Amino acid sequence: MHFTSESIETVVEIFSSLPSIGRKTAQRLTYHLLKQPQEFVDKFSNSLLTMKKNVRFCSVCYNFTEKNPCPICSSQKRNRKLICVVEEPNDVLAIEKTSEYSGMYHVLHGAMNPLEGIGPNDLKIRELVSRINDEVEEVILALDPNVEGEVTTQYLSKLLKPLGIKVSRIARGVPIGSDLEFADEATLSRAMEGRIQL
Ligand code: ZN
Repeated sequence: MHFTSESIETVVEIFSSLPSIGRKTAQRLTYHLLKQPQEFVDKFSNSLLTMKKNVRFCSVCYNFTEKNPCPICSSQKRNRKLICVVEEPNDVLAIEKTSEYSGMYHVLHGAMNPLEGIGPNDLKIRELVSRINDEVEEVILALDPNVEGEVTTQYLSKLLKPLGIKVSRIARGVPIGSDLEFADEATLSRAMEGRIQL
């Protein structure tokens, strides 16, 4: 054991298991928390518990929400003719930040990855297809510009086009191999604006 306390070791391990947190950062965060007043630590742990207890999938778009349907799906101001398909809830935030898009969303919760055995049934694809009705005119595929995003885009395009709707993909311009959520607002706006019909 590296630590003088088993409970410190446990917290370091939990932090290290989070995305993009290495062992050193995990240690820094743990010692930082340890130095905080009791109220802060109470608030920190309670907020995690409350979030986990209250947040659910929206039954329409599958974004995380406390109200079902979520504020976007229940808003009268959104354009119901457009559905923008993204991989993760973070991508919705990134696109909303551009303030250029007023349609609906659909969150797949991942992308197809044949090497890791992630197929269509592991994503919210069936749920997407069941949303296609007479009201929907266009589905915009805004997946990450990497191999998994590409495989998923091709799959969805083949699946959706026979349903008689317009299927488009956001323009390249979002750097290849990166995550959509890391694209800056201007780039994302341009990518959405210059979308290409499939
Ligand atoms: Zn929703």
